[in-house]
Amino acid sequence: MARERMARERRERERMTDHTERLAVARAAYDAVPLYDPKRAPVELDLTDNTNLWGIPPVAERTLRELPVARITRYPTLYAAELKQALAEFVGVTPDMIVTGCGSDDVLDSAMRAFGEPGDLVAAPEPSFAMIPIFARMNALEYIGCVELPSHQPDIDALLATRPKLLYLCSPNNPTGTLMARDTIERVLREAPGVVFLDEAYAEFAGVSAVDLLKQSDRLLVIRTMSKAFGLAGLRIGYAIGQPSLVMEVEKSRGPYKLNAMAEQTALAALQHDMPWVHEHIALAVALRERLADALRTRGFAPLESHANFVCVPVADCVNVGLALRERGVAVRPFPALPHIGDTLRISVGPWPLLERFLAAFDEVMATRRSA
Ligand code: PMP
Repeated sequence: MARERMARERRERERMTDHTERLAVARAAYDAVPLYDPKRAPVELDLTDNTNLWGIPPVAERTLRELPVARITRYPTLYAAELKQALAEFVGVTPDMIVTGCGSDDVLDSAMRAFGEPGDLVAAPEPSFAMIPIFARMNALEYIGCVELPSHQPDIDALLATRPKLLYLCSPNNPTGTLMARDTIERVLREAPGVVFLDEAYAEFAGVSAVDLLKQSDRLLVIRTMSKAFGLAGLRIGYAIGQPSLVMEVEKSRGPYKLNAMAEQTALAALQHDMPWVHEHIALAVALRERLADALRTRGFAPLESHANFVCVPVADCVNVGLALRERGVAVRPFPALPHIGDTLRISVGPWPLLERFLAAFDEVMATRRSA
């Protein structure tokens, strides 16, 4: 099955990318838009995407399984009002400060469309979330990346100097796991000329959020997801938090019916009944992240301090190490030549037996390479 699916996906990729000349009706801005393809073939143990490897919260699962047929035959709610209410309670804001979307990917995309005129500039630190340049180009915006400082904090002077219409920040950052200093965010809010996106996809694992800064800024949009701590990545539920006037623009750009009925009902159940499970598994992820980092340090590696549910560890020749791990049924994500760091592997944290399996494969690969 997996092999068939891979072959089908490869054929589709080839079909989509096999244009030597631009289609006459294609949009010029789309010349710079590649078809996103992280080339992640299915593998027995996938530690590449930082989803919740413990599974789905129990009441959410039951809700999903027992969804009344009428929820499927009819359209979902226009703007997921009930879910906005529950998310607002979870975050500690009012429902008019929340906009939902089909994953935080969709929220980021909608927000770029809402605030960026074609040709406007999106600036982001590098390395950071790989989809940002892609979403920028999908919306006919210009993208500029500014290499982070050796401390792994964003180079705010460089970012502000670009005078971007949209300034993207991510804390904890993907792929490094670094938490951004609070005074850095405050400075950006004071000095950025346009809208500031603060991506908090991994905030639950850091136990820190900058949502309270919304009181000081009507240009800040905090982006969150239920794909990580809540274990609902396949249902695609993301949201953003901002002042009502800012959120309204994203809502217009998002449009109606974006969150499907299964997603909305399951997310609601998770927020209303599964918070003990969610908290328990956040604590587990944090504890096992530290255990994995220790295990790597014992082996002579120097993982970066992570505040997310993954560990980023410098490993020379990471692409080939990644391939060798794949041959042993374990996938982690290589990030070659990161500025100030070099080659790294990013490893999602999950139950300890899975991480032990990764460590065993890693030991084998490293031993083979030493003896080669
Ligand atoms: N932001 C960051 C920083 C991420 O790492 C991811 C997923 N890897 C997303 C946003 C998108 O998450 P989703 O669309 O599943 O909510």
